[in-house]
Order: sequence, then C-alpha cells, then structure tokens
Amino acid sequence: MTDPRVEEVLARLTDLRAGDAPTRGGRVLSYVYDPGLAVVDELARRAAEQVQHVNGLDPTAFGSVARMEADVIGFAAGLVHGADTVGVVTSGGTESCLLAVKSARDRWRTRHPGVAGPPVIVAPVTAHAAFHKAAEYFGLHLDRVPVGTDGTVGADQLIGRCDERTALVVVSAPNYPFGVIDPVAEVAPRAAALGIACHVDACIGGWVLPFWGEPLPRWDFRISGVASMSLDAHKYGYSPKGVSVLLFADRDAKRAASFATTEWPGYPVVNPTMLGSRSATSLAAAWAVLQYLGVDGLAELTARTRRATEALLGVVAGIDGLRVVGTPAGPLFAVRTDPDVDSGRGVDPHQWSDRVRELGWTLQPQPGLRQRSGQALAPTTHLTITPVTADNLDALTAAMVRAADDVRGRPPIDLSALPDALPALRSEATLDSAAAGEILAALGLADGGPTLPDQLAPVMALLEVIDPARAQELLTELLARLNENPAAPCG
Ligand SMILES: *Cc1c(COP(=O)(O)O)cnc(C)c1O
Repeated sequence: MTDPRVEEVLARLTDLRAGDAPTRGGRVLSYVYDPGLAVVDELARRAAEQVQHVNGLDPTAFGSVARMEADVIGFAAGLVHGADTVGVVTSGGTESCLLAVKSARDRWRTRHPGVAGPPVIVAPVTAHAAFHKAAEYFGLHLDRVPVGTDGTVGADQLIGRCDERTALVVVSAPNYPFGVIDPVAEVAPRAAALGIACHVDACIGGWVLPFWGEPLPRWDFRISGVASMSLDAHKYGYSPKGVSVLLFADRDAKRAASFATTEWPGYPVVNPTMLGSRSATSLAAAWAVLQYLGVDGLAELTARTRRATEALLGVVAGIDGLRVVGTPAGPLFAVRTDPDVDSGRGVDPHQWSDRVRELGWTLQPQPGLRQRSGQALAPTTHLTITPVTADNLDALTAAMVRAADDVRGRPPIDLSALPDALPALRSEATLDSAAAGEILAALGLADGGPTLPDQLAPVMALLEVIDPARAQELLTELLARLNENPAAPCG
C-alpha cells in the first residue's frame, strides 16, 4: 500500500491502542484469553480477512457461513455430549443467554395460554448479569435465589421456587463471580419433570471444562433435562471477540429462539440470532482457530491453565489475610478477606487488587452483595487464569504476595457517610443524566475528561452503600461520558 494516508491513519490507531490494557502476555486476568501462541492470532487474523465483506445475514448467498457455523456448532456439541443437539452461532455469551431466554419465554407462552405473566427466570444470584438483561429486554421476572457464602446453591432452593409461571431455570458451569459449578445434575431432571426448561450457562466453562479432568461434577448434555447451553468460543476457544455457541436439545426450542417475518415489502427475513446484517469475521476466525487447535490443542492448553490455576490457589492459601471463596472448579476463582483472621491481619480484596495493579497486573474487583436472605456476599477480587499465566507464575506470585504485605491490616474503605453528604445518593428518586453528572463531579470522577480513576476500591465501596438503582444510574452516566466528545472534528 503506497498511499501515505493509510499509514498515517493506522499510526493514529496505534497511538490510541498504546493506552489500552495489554491483550496479550497475561497481565490482565479477565476479559482476555491468551493461549500464548502467536500462530493462533495470525491464523485468526488471516481467516477474518478472507470474509471481511461477507454478510452473515444470508447463508443462502454466503454458503461458507452456514458451513463454518455447522462445524463450530458440531465441535461444541461433541465436547458436551450433545450429539442430538442443534445450535446457533451468536456474537457472544450475552446474546447466547438472551436467546436461551427468548426461546424459553416463547415456548412457555405456547404451553401456558391461561397463566397471567410475566413468566419467571429462576436463577442463583451468581447467574451472569446477561440474565438480568434478558429479563429486562424480554419482559420476564428474574427470581434471584440466594447462595451460600461459598457460592453454592442447593437444587431444592432452585426447584422450590418453580411454579407454573417459571419459564426457565438457569444453572452455571461454572458461575463467573466465584468459579463454582451449580448442581446441574440435580436441577435439570427435576426442572424437566415440571415441564420447565433448564439452561446451563457454560459460557466460560464450555470450552475448558471438557478437558479439565477429575474431580468435576457432571454438567453437560449427559444429564437429562438440559434444554440449552451457551459456550463462548471467544473465551476458552481462544477466538477473537464476537463468537459464542448456543445449543438446544430440541429443534423446536431452536426455532423459538429465532425470528422470521414476511410481512413487509422487503426481502423475507429469517434471523436465527438477534442481529440482521452481521459480520462473518469472528465466525471465520473462531472456525479457523478451532480447526487448528482441535481437541488435542484445547486439551494441552487446558492442562497448562489447570497447572497455573492450582499454583495460584496455593499462593492465595499461603497469603495471610486472604482466602479463596468456596471450592472453584475450573480456571477462575475469587479472593476475599479471610474472615477468620483478626482485623489487624486482614487483607481488603479491593485495596489488594489496586496495589496488584500498581505492580503491573490487572485483577477484577467485585463488590459485595446483600441478598434477600439477609446473608451478605463478601467483596471479592476475581481472577481468570489462561494458559499464558503459566509462563508468568513467579512474577505474578511476587506481586500478589507483595501487594498483600503492603495493604494488610488496612480497614475496608467506609463510604457509608458519603450518601449523607450527597443527599441525591440517598434519595429514592431517579437520577437523570445531569444529576448523575453532578454527583460524579462531586466525587471527582467527572473532571479531566474521559478517564477512570486509578483506585477502584473507593468506587466499589460506594457501590456497596448506595441503592443499586442509584449505582446503576451513576455507572451508566460514567460510561456514557467516556465517548462523548462533541468538539472533535471528523478526521
Ligand atoms: C462471559 C460470560 C457471559 C457473557 O458473555 P459475554 O461474551 O461477555 O457477552 C455469560 N455467562 C458467563 C458464565 C460468562 O462467563
């Protein structure tokens, strides 16, 4: 390419990217999944390039799309013993979860014509936020069932909430916050006996648990009553973002996830997923990566991930004042303050993760949660382990240990007085954009342009003491401001 403007534009993008969290090298322990294999990235890039202008809207015009989808769906189905399943390829875990809910809702409506809505999703509080979104978008009620402080929920707790209004029970393999596998084998058959669909959210576990090894409870389609399952190829399938698989045990359930209309003067519309026109680049990249890695490649990467995970669980166990939440099964876990040490030795997980970040590693703070049972879930810091973590164990361990030494004994940040200082935060009234903006400014989060604070511990502490509705409004405003820059001229 000889046009110098091409290089100029790309150089500007390089500058923009310089400030980003690094996507490779294992420095960020969430969001990105690094197999540590440069060849996989190169392959994905070249595969995406080949389909750059394909429109996945119409697999009759672009037969390659249907073929690649069939291959990716078949690969996923094979991993989870879903020989008789059918599926769709979506843009990610959220879309897979949304469509599982739409399918269950529409089938519930057909089967319960006399029951007044809204239909209900029964799920542990640890189920992914995508189900909150699905409930909101599709007009269902989400019944969030409390879990124990170890992140587990009993089958009786879930099934006990089910009645004729229940359209879907959700279990996770594993859940994202704590890496704990829900009791799929106890829940799915009992849900099925009640005529209720059971979705297994294996968004994060689907491409890694099949290779994890013992001991692991069963969670896949060998269990009768599993109606649908989501598996994100853009997590432990090591594909670039934008691709997930949703499997259904029943062809009619897949049909209920899709949308079709012939009642407009344009082309007949059949959309098996939520988008209309859609890129095939992520699909092609995932298809290529999965063809290349195959079962053997995924197994080998999982073995490295497991070694790294076990090593880090051991590191946390050896840090005075911290403790792993529950018994995680798979490559993710959460760390909390050890409740059994006196406060002088406790390590606050959010001040710890802020300190770990200053030392060069990004972990993910998770706020504590009040459940309706009255039992609170402690604030935690989440770690997602990938194969490349195995190459970095010594340096990461040193940072984790040192950060704990640096913050040990510091009390958790207490912002309970702040809502008094900022009455709008205590109010029951909705904050509009302007009111939310004023609060952000008062908190020092709206000055100096679109940047986020370095220290996340105070942000988490604030979220824990204010009404969730106010927290959601504030965060929405904070994010909305990040891409607002009306003064910038085009180009
Ligand atoms: C990541 C994840 C999701 C949502 O997936 P996105 O790809 O981020 O949309 C849903 N459930 C679980 C368990 C996840 O880990």
